[in-house]
Amino acid sequence: MLNFLEVFSGQHLNMINSKHSKPLSDVQLRVKALESILLEKGVVDQNTLDTIVDIYENRVGPHLGAKVVARAWTNPEFKNRLLSNGAATIAELGMGSILDVQLVVKENTPTVHNMIVCTLCSCYPWSVLGLPPNWYKSFPYRSRAVSDPRGVLMDFGLALPTDTEVCVWDSTANMRYMVLPLRPEGSENLSEDELAALVTRNAMIGTAVVSVS
Ligand code: FE
Repeated sequence: MLNFLEVFSGQHLNMINSKHSKPLSDVQLRVKALESILLEKGVVDQNTLDTIVDIYENRVGPHLGAKVVARAWTNPEFKNRLLSNGAATIAELGMGSILDVQLVVKENTPTVHNMIVCTLCSCYPWSVLGLPPNWYKSFPYRSRAVSDPRGVLMDFGLALPTDTEVCVWDSTANMRYMVLPLRPEGSENLSEDELAALVTRNAMIGTAVVSVS
């Protein structure tokens, strides 16, 4: 078992690197050090860590959020409950996690467009969108989403009408947000599964809209 100081003193760097084709980054080294010390102290066990990594790398992702959106588009009663109590309503579909202590769903309308950010770090609705993209965690996005949201949307190729109100929601460790995009024109005859297939991760962050094509 490596300990924290040994990792940072470099005594075990060669051993760690031998398992990889290229040197570990500073962040990877820090993660390994933290993992080692938590395991050594008995705070977590390896099986629990492996399960968490498997869930968020392989089982949870935007396909879950897309199912929530498609259900909301096709079931007004579900949508009303989703907007008033996101976490409990999403749990009805077998989704949700203690990591999203509170999950608030913000509905886009023809006059209001929502987007989410975590200005402090990277808080994100993991249980319905999986792991956040790197740009979501970047300083330029975290700062400009607040100071220049329309500029950020333009960077994503999204030019909203000037009279559309843009609302930016700042996530925290205890309060996560997800955007319910507008149902696109031309989708009236699509099934719930077909609708879900149209919904992208970025549309649920608010840096894109959903279209039929
Ligand atoms: Fe955060």
